[in-house]
Amino acid sequence: MSVVVCLGEALIDFVSMESGVTVGDSPGFVRAPGGAPANVAVGVARLGQTSAFLGKVGDDPFGHFLADTFAGAGVDTGGVVFSKTERTGLAFVSLAANGERDFCFFRNPSADMTYLPSELDTERISACTIFHYGSITLIDEPARTTTLTAVQQAKAQGKLISYDPNLRPPLWSSLDVARKTILETIPLADMVKVSEEELGFVLLGNSPDKALTSEEVEACGAEFMGRFTPVSLLCVTRGAKGCAWWTRNGDSGSAAGLPVTAVDTTGAGDGFIAAVMVGLLERNVTTAEAIFALPQEMLAEIFSFANAVGALTTTRKGAIPALPTLAEVAAFRNG
Ligand code: ADP
Repeated sequence: MSVVVCLGEALIDFVSMESGVTVGDSPGFVRAPGGAPANVAVGVARLGQTSAFLGKVGDDPFGHFLADTFAGAGVDTGGVVFSKTERTGLAFVSLAANGERDFCFFRNPSADMTYLPSELDTERISACTIFHYGSITLIDEPARTTTLTAVQQAKAQGKLISYDPNLRPPLWSSLDVARKTILETIPLADMVKVSEEELGFVLLGNSPDKALTSEEVEACGAEFMGRFTPVSLLCVTRGAKGCAWWTRNGDSGSAAGLPVTAVDTTGAGDGFIAAVMVGLLERNVTTAEAIFALPQEMLAEIFSFANAVGALTTTRKGAIPALPTLAEVAAFRNG
């Protein structure tokens, strides 16, 4: 059984082979396995800890391709459910001429949205140490109830709960609903990872892609910890600028990003949170209380490792092909 269980959506991104065109005008697409919680499970496995992915895909060639890809990356996929009635979710994406990403989703509904509480692999949840989830399966019922049921089971069993809301505006009925849902579900978690844009979105009501200044990040991090008292560790990713963190016992810190030639930032945040979890596990930190007790220099070391994993993930195209192994991270940090 796996130490880290990641629950959520898995889907295929079909990325336009040509940029500067809309999805409708694109002559062809390349498939890329996606779904942030699944990427996190792969990230954890690459970094040497055991992980499982729990979720629902279609019993179709794309669903099997996803499960095979995760299993090929070392993830336990025994808890993946294959729907006989709904198809695997697909997202067609293109970089349009105006620089905006043009999306077209096939989720009407997709299998991940129809994940039922009765389909949860409660044994794999019982056996884990860290339970990680996201917000995409909190959008629609019945997947929403299923996700919350899993979080509640994991909490009741004393697992360390990790949450990466991973805001995807086009999937929500409105930004207000997204903000409300994310605000409601943050207190369920022991550790939360957000990008600085997401932090500004939930706390300041900013538009979802607005970056923050370092001063704003400082103020929001402190406000977040004051407001969400159940959270023991807040991790804020800042792209090339690196990251910042806060703990329940009042410690906070930041680490500068590592210089790399970024090719594609997809999956950087997933690799980052996978690395934070692995860093905690390597130090036997498996409870919220143990996070309080972590010396500041150990936290700084964990976040420096996570920054390296995030940076390396940007140097290759796609998420899963780019998530690094421990050996690659060591070579990068020593080189
Ligand atoms: P998300 O994918 O969740 O939006 P970010 O883009 O902030 O997350 O990236 C996550 C982490 O990956 C950052 O905190 C940083 O450590 C690393 N990272 C991302 N982009 C770059 C970059 N261009 N250069 C160096 N590191 C990066």
